[in-house]
Amino acid sequence: MITLEPRLVVVCRSVSDVVAGLRQGAATGDRVVPRGGGHCFARRSSTDGIVLDLSGLDEISVRDGIATVGAGVRLGALYAELHRHRRAVPGGCGPGVGIAGLTLGGGIGLLGRKYGLTCDRLVGVQVVLADGRVVECSESSEPELFWALRGAGGGQFGVVTSLRFATVPEPVMTRIEARWPGVDLASLVSRWQEWAPDAPDEVTVNLSLGAGGARLFGASMLSAAATRDLLQVFPGPVDVQGGLPYAELKSSFADPLERPELRLRSEFFTSSLRAGTVAALVGELAGTRREISLTAMGGAYNRVAAEATAFAHRRTRFLLELVANAGDPWVDASWANAHVDGSGGVYPNFPDPALEDWASAYHGSNYPRLQAVKRAYDPQRFFAFPQGI
Ligand SMILES: Cc1cc2nc3c(=O)[nH]c(=O)nc-3n(C[C@H](O)[C@H](O)[C@H](O)COP(=O)(O)OP(=O)(O)OC[C@H]3O[C@@H](n4cnc5c(N)ncnc54)[C@H](O)[C@@H]3O)c2cc1C
Repeated sequence: MITLEPRLVVVCRSVSDVVAGLRQGAATGDRVVPRGGGHCFARRSSTDGIVLDLSGLDEISVRDGIATVGAGVRLGALYAELHRHRRAVPGGCGPGVGIAGLTLGGGIGLLGRKYGLTCDRLVGVQVVLADGRVVECSESSEPELFWALRGAGGGQFGVVTSLRFATVPEPVMTRIEARWPGVDLASLVSRWQEWAPDAPDEVTVNLSLGAGGARLFGASMLSAAATRDLLQVFPGPVDVQGGLPYAELKSSFADPLERPELRLRSEFFTSSLRAGTVAALVGELAGTRREISLTAMGGAYNRVAAEATAFAHRRTRFLLELVANAGDPWVDASWANAHVDGSGGVYPNFPDPALEDWASAYHGSNYPRLQAVKRAYDPQRFFAFPQGI
C-alpha cells in the first residue's frame, strides 16, 4: 500500500530515535510521518520526506492486567503475546495492522460489542510532541491530549511511542462462519440489520456480500450450542466451532482488505437501510470483484458518550463498507445510494479522500475540541496532511 519514496527512513528503536527524527525534520523542513503497520488506506504513513519507522518499538509487557505495548507492535504479535498471559484487548483482525494506528482511530473488532473500541481500553500513552518533548498522558495527566488520542485518527498530534491498555481475561471463543452462494441477498441484509446490532453483546456477526453470494462470519463468547441456537434466525446452515482461545480465533480470519489495488468507501449507520437502498446495493454484484461488508456495532461501543473520547460515533448500529477495484465507478455510485440512509459519520481509520465534509464525517461535534487540542500541542501544524485536524 506504500507508494511514495521517502527521502529518509529513520528506523526507531527508542524514544530518543523518535526525538532525533523529529529534530532532523524540523532542521531540514522535511515532512515527517510516523509509520506503524503501514496500513493506512489514504497512505498517510508515506511521504517523500522522513518516515519514522516505529517497527523497532516492539516491546510488550504485561503486569497486573495492564499491557504496555510499543507503538511498532502489530496485532498478530500482540494477541500472541497476550495469549501467553491469558489476557486480551479488543481489536481488529488484520495481523499486520499496527496497534498504534488502530487504537488512535478507534479499533473495531470481534470483542468490541462486549468491551468497546480498542481505544476504550487505553489507560495511558507516551507521546513525543513536534518540539521533541516527551509527555505521558492519561485521564489525570495531559487529559485533553489523552482524550484526543482516543479515536481522532493517527498522525495528528505527535508520535506515540507506547500505549498502556487495561486488558481483559482472554475469552474462550466460538467461531462463526457460513457461506451461502445462492441466498436472496436483499432479504438476508434485512434480517441481518434488524438482528446483528441488537444481538447479545457476547456475539458479533458480520456479513459480506459479493458475486459469489453471502458470507456470514464472526465470533461469540457463548458456548457453541447457545451460539447455534441464536443463529437459527438466519436462513442457512452455519459452521460453529467452540473452544478457541481468542488469539487462535483471530489468526483464523484472513482479512480481505489486504489488497492494495482495491478502493474502500464506508459509512456508519444509526438506522436500517431501506428496502429500496438494499435492492440497489446488492443489484450489481454479479460477475465482479465488488464486495459489501456490514460490521455489527451497538453493545459496548455505544455505552460511551460521544464526547467522552474523540471517537464521535457512539450511536451506530453498523458500519457499511464498499470495496471494489480502484477504477470501478460502482464504489462511488453505491456509496451515494447508501449515504441517503446513512448517519454521515465515517470511521477515522477508514479515511476517504473523496469526502466533502470530512471534519464533520470523522469527528462530528468533537471537531472544535480537537482543533483546540491541535492548537495546544502542535501549534505550528508540524503534523499535517489532507483532512488533518
Ligand atoms: C488489512 C486491513 C485490515 C484491517 N482491519 C481492521 C479491523 O479489523 N478493525 C479496525 O478497526 N480497523 C481495521 N483496519 C483499518 C486500520 O485500523 C487502519 O488502517 C489503521 O490506521 C492502520 O494502522 P497502521 O499502524 O497499520 O497503519 P499506518 O499506516 O502505519 O498508520 C496509520 C495512521 O496512523 C499514524 N500513526 C501510525 N503510528 C503512529 C504513532 N505511533 N503515533 C502517531 N501516529 C501514528 C500514521 O502516520 C497514519 O496516519 C484494517 C486495515 C487493513 C489494511
